[in-house]
Amino acid sequence: MGWKCPECGYETNSDETKQCRGCGTIHIPPSFGLVSDTAGRTLAFRIDTVCGKNMIRNIVGDDYRYADQRQFKLSKQNTGLYIYHENEAVNKTLYNNSIIPPEGCQLATGGIITIGNDLAKMRVEFE
Ligand SMILES: [Zn+2]
Repeated sequence: MGWKCPECGYETNSDETKQCRGCGTIHIPPSFGLVSDTAGRTLAFRIDTVCGKNMIRNIVGDDYRYADQRQFKLSKQNTGLYIYHENEAVNKTLYNNSIIPPEGCQLATGGIITIGNDLAKMRVEFE
């Protein structure tokens, strides 16, 4: 796959790099999606969003009930896209099987978000 730099047009940056190999610009995807492979659904985001059970229901179906009203936040920053656990949520939010630290986790395409160890599994996809 890879991505094309909007600044210099360099076309073969790999998905693993966020910095353009042509000009050094940090590439922030314009939108990103959460995908449930079990429910076969995707939800796309463009702006900072707090995800809770109502939104998660649209992606994972029945597992939504393990989420709180405010479960985690997706945030777009200068250096990339990040996920933060919402402190008031009862169940932990995990990213790639690790508890999300207070400073958040940077998301990468293919990363897996779960509630608890394996519930409400969502895969991260960048546009
Ligand atoms: Zn570039």
